[in-house]
Amino acid sequence: MTMTPAELAELIRLVPDFPKPGIQFKDITPLLKHGRAFKSSIHHMAEMFKGETIHAIAAPEARGFIFGTSLAVEMGCGFLPIRKPNKLPYETKSHTYDLEYGTDTVHMHSDAVGAGDRVLLVDDVLATGGTMAACAELVGGMGGSIVGCGFLLELGFLNGRDKLKDHRVEVVLPE
Ligand code: AMP
Repeated sequence: MTMTPAELAELIRLVPDFPKPGIQFKDITPLLKHGRAFKSSIHHMAEMFKGETIHAIAAPEARGFIFGTSLAVEMGCGFLPIRKPNKLPYETKSHTYDLEYGTDTVHMHSDAVGAGDRVLLVDDVLATGGTMAACAELVGGMGGSIVGCGFLLELGFLNGRDKLKDHRVEVVLPE
């Protein structure tokens, strides 16, 4: 039987001061190791975008791959990995974005997205929204049409939705 979002929320472990002091890390591994919970989380993500035409799900490494690939199988669409520099073997397109200190870059294979392809973006946690906004810029710049951005959970106080206001944002466990 499918578990409710409230039941899933009990399987998210809060780890204080990881990876550095002051960060409250939302650890999803207790949920992942619970088969019915993991399956239920994918079910809820699929429900959020039911009825949409989706050609592929694109997700950033590493935890985005866990939910992105599972959701792609559930929805019967393709999967497009979004990776850090120097990880993809073929020619890539990239987008560089600002962090608090410095910059970061996301890459996709240059033939991953075709003009007009309907792409759903997925990650585990919506924090500042910087990563997902960069992924959306990359996919949009390649001619993709973004169906929306789906997350398991969000850190509401970081206002990540502000960076994604041009897109539909859905969260299984909203704050
Ligand atoms: P963002 O700040 O939205 O660009 O988040 C960057 C990435 O780090 C996202 O893929 C999140 O999965 C992850 N992340 C950021 N903050 C947290 C946190 N407090 N707990 C767990 N994951 C986080």
